[in-house]
Amino acid sequence: MDNEKIILSNSPDAATYKENLSGWVSRTGRFWGKDGHMAKWDGATHTKCRCGIIFPKNSYCKTCAEKRRLEKFKAKPVMVWNGKDALYSDSEDRYYGEWEGVNNEDRKVSFESMNFIICERTEWRELSDDFFEDSLCEDVGNDELIDLIHDFNENLKEIQTNCWEPGLYRAVLEEE
Ligand SMILES: [Zn+2]
Repeated sequence: MDNEKIILSNSPDAATYKENLSGWVSRTGRFWGKDGHMAKWDGATHTKCRCGIIFPKNSYCKTCAEKRRLEKFKAKPVMVWNGKDALYSDSEDRYYGEWEGVNNEDRKVSFESMNFIICERTEWRELSDDFFEDSLCEDVGNDELIDLIHDFNENLKEIQTNCWEPGLYRAVLEEE
């Protein structure tokens, strides 16, 4: 920031009057010379998707994104839900700890309509001696530390994380 020059609007550096200039100027006032394509893009607010829908150019086509999401969901193999694992609703982008809770707000939704994906517990990240980098001399190993880290990682396998993420399978209540 210190090196950045401060220019007020009344400074002669802020803008210059040009004569005999021809070329594309976008709606925002930017001069693009011969590049009419970029000038038009710069001045546009919306763009048209291949599907025909018009959306803000700094965004994306939500209809196509939704379609891709559904295709991805349908491509997942099916597994009968065990009634215990957390569920992720792909249609609501929401996690559910239990199926019973889904229908409690005066809603009548079917299991299928929720597009449930069976969740898997996240895995622990193993500890490595990199974590203690600042406390160790370079190129000198510490065997006691290595042993401790090994024991720690072994013990870590004995406990489960309490966090879930969408897994590989879409859930069904019974065999389809
Ligand atoms: Zn589209």
